[in-house]
Amino acid sequence: VGVIMDVNAEILLAEPRGFCAGVDRAIEIVERALAKFGAPIYVRHEIVHNTYVVNDLKAKGAIFIEELDDVPPGATLVFSAHGVSRAVQREAERRGFQIFDATCPLVTKVHVEVAKLHKEGYEFIMIGHKGHPEVEGTMGQLDSGIHLVEDEADVARVRLAQSEKLAVVTQTTLSVDDAAGILAAVKARFPQVREPKQQDICYATQNRQDAVKVLSGQVDVLVVVGSPTSSNSNRLREVAHKRGVAAYMVDNADELQADWFEGKARVGLTAGASAPEILVQQVIERIKALGAVAVRKMDGVEETVKFPLPKGLKV
Ligand code: SF4
Repeated sequence: VGVIMDVNAEILLAEPRGFCAGVDRAIEIVERALAKFGAPIYVRHEIVHNTYVVNDLKAKGAIFIEELDDVPPGATLVFSAHGVSRAVQREAERRGFQIFDATCPLVTKVHVEVAKLHKEGYEFIMIGHKGHPEVEGTMGQLDSGIHLVEDEADVARVRLAQSEKLAVVTQTTLSVDDAAGILAAVKARFPQVREPKQQDICYATQNRQDAVKVLSGQVDVLVVVGSPTSSNSNRLREVAHKRGVAAYMVDNADELQADWFEGKARVGLTAGASAPEILVQQVIERIKALGAVAVRKMDGVEETVKFPLPKGLKV
């Protein structure tokens, strides 16, 4: 290739990285539905935001759709891990599909909280990224009364219908640091705000960002395995970038560019919560071909979270 890494170049593997419990469960739901009912199984939206995972399931007989109009009567339909609005849920039920809900239980927890506080008369500020399906699903738990803010400037523009009861919810895959900044702006402007009891950013997002923070102090360059649509993967790249580390996100090993590694001695490697380990291993092989001579696993939090499968798909 003509590119020379440092003669002792090594790869430092982030821990934890890759699949979270919600992604594991979502993929297993589609696979079990395929095994039990046969192809095709319809999936609303990419089950998780990863090209490899989606192509793999397509090859096994899953059909990915965005609109319920594209699902034939009597079909089996899986909702993606990001969750759906009440309107989508109701419409799917009305059409009589056999539904399996692969919404991550940590997203459902946010939906339940919104419904509960709404009954108590609360209005909401949601911190999240406009257009992301999880945000659409959570905002769509109510007909109105959720104000989306993407940054601190948006907080200044919020117009509440009343000022007594206000709660904050967030997307599960935000930058922990950015979310804290936006939440501080919300609290400064609306001191009466009810903070999330337990923050909505999930354990997997938190742990992967923490691991990248540790890595950032030790590497010359960081590679994140993840698809462009994956929110949490993009945040991992940003965390390193904000710490002054050159950071790149790749969907697969073919996207690696040799010049990123020129003269580098330490390459950090991690993967978003929707990116399978096989892709990480392929990236390792490619970086070794460019000259890395060792792979070192970092210490990190051990994750033991596991979510049960929906009724009807358990063994
Ligand atoms: Fe659930 Fe977090 Fe994984 Fe999203 S990233 S599926 S919220 S565990």
